[in-house]
Amino acid sequence: MIDLRSDTVTQPTAAMRLTMSRAEVGDDVYGDDPTVNSLQDMAAEMFGFESALFTCSGTQANLLALMAHCERGDEYLCGQQAHNYKFEGGGAAVLGSIQPQPLLNQVDGTIALADIEAAIKPDDIHFARTRLLSLENTIGGKVIPQSYLADAQALAFHRGLKIHLDGARVANAAVAQNIAISKITAHFDSVSICLSKGLCAPVGSLLLGDERLIKKAIRWRKMLGGGMRQAGILAAAGKLALTEQVQRLSEDHDNAAYLARQLAELSEFDVDLAAVQTNMLFAKLAPKVDADLLAKHCRAEGILISPGRTIRLVTHKDVSRQDIDKVLRVMKQHFTA
Ligand SMILES: *Cc1c(COP(=O)(O)O)cnc(C)c1O
Repeated sequence: MIDLRSDTVTQPTAAMRLTMSRAEVGDDVYGDDPTVNSLQDMAAEMFGFESALFTCSGTQANLLALMAHCERGDEYLCGQQAHNYKFEGGGAAVLGSIQPQPLLNQVDGTIALADIEAAIKPDDIHFARTRLLSLENTIGGKVIPQSYLADAQALAFHRGLKIHLDGARVANAAVAQNIAISKITAHFDSVSICLSKGLCAPVGSLLLGDERLIKKAIRWRKMLGGGMRQAGILAAAGKLALTEQVQRLSEDHDNAAYLARQLAELSEFDVDLAAVQTNMLFAKLAPKVDADLLAKHCRAEGILISPGRTIRLVTHKDVSRQDIDKVLRVMKQHFTA
């Protein structure tokens, strides 16, 4: 199957499976797993933080960050389109008693600084306490400009807010700009990053922050059932995700740009090429196209795409340029049949 639904579908590499089979492990709840410790140390160093914590998912890493920065009755500012507002089951509210204050995302994925300023609540018993600004990079495949990150960081600092990055795909953002990941993460008090998307690890994310924040996060992780014991088996693959899979992301970006350009040539699709900056593209179907029929035809030909009238297509390690050419062939064939 050529699976374009998400980069979460990536299979672990042969090297990952081998290193997993040989990983030295211990009980990570006791802090005794040498491979988990080594991954965490390596990530902290690589991203420029005091500490790092291995988590079972990106959702958990984000939730731990929100719960470590905020107390009951606090709020965080985030984009209306933010994963940690829209796609994480309301976890901050449900489990953290933390109120989200979602704000409009601009077309480029940023949140207008004036909107952030205006949403910060005064110290008044009527209001939740605004504690944290949470940004996402990449967001919808788009890279947030470095100059914006510096401005948002300065705003947060001057207004006494902490600033968190949902960096599930921050490696894609770094590779797209040809800069080190640490150049992006330097603007934040905490960062979450997924190892299991384009970076191909089977399971796992990381939360980065200072020692105090990570200590709090470890306590919440245990309470949430995220203490994983011999997790070094997974962390071993995570180490290779960071050392061997980051630079490769540029191939995914090239493939997404190629696919977008080719689809934009067809009258059946509307693709905003300027929005295709990393490994993700959104193709709007023309009214004449039956979305279900297209998806059905693709599936019969061994291609999986997301349902809907705007289809999100995501490139990753297990989709080659040859696969993309097949996708284009199959779609053209469907439209001319
Ligand atoms: C995938 C994703 C997450 C959550 O990751 P899971 O591991 O699926 O829980 C968080 N934020 C963003 C932006 C994501 O794309």
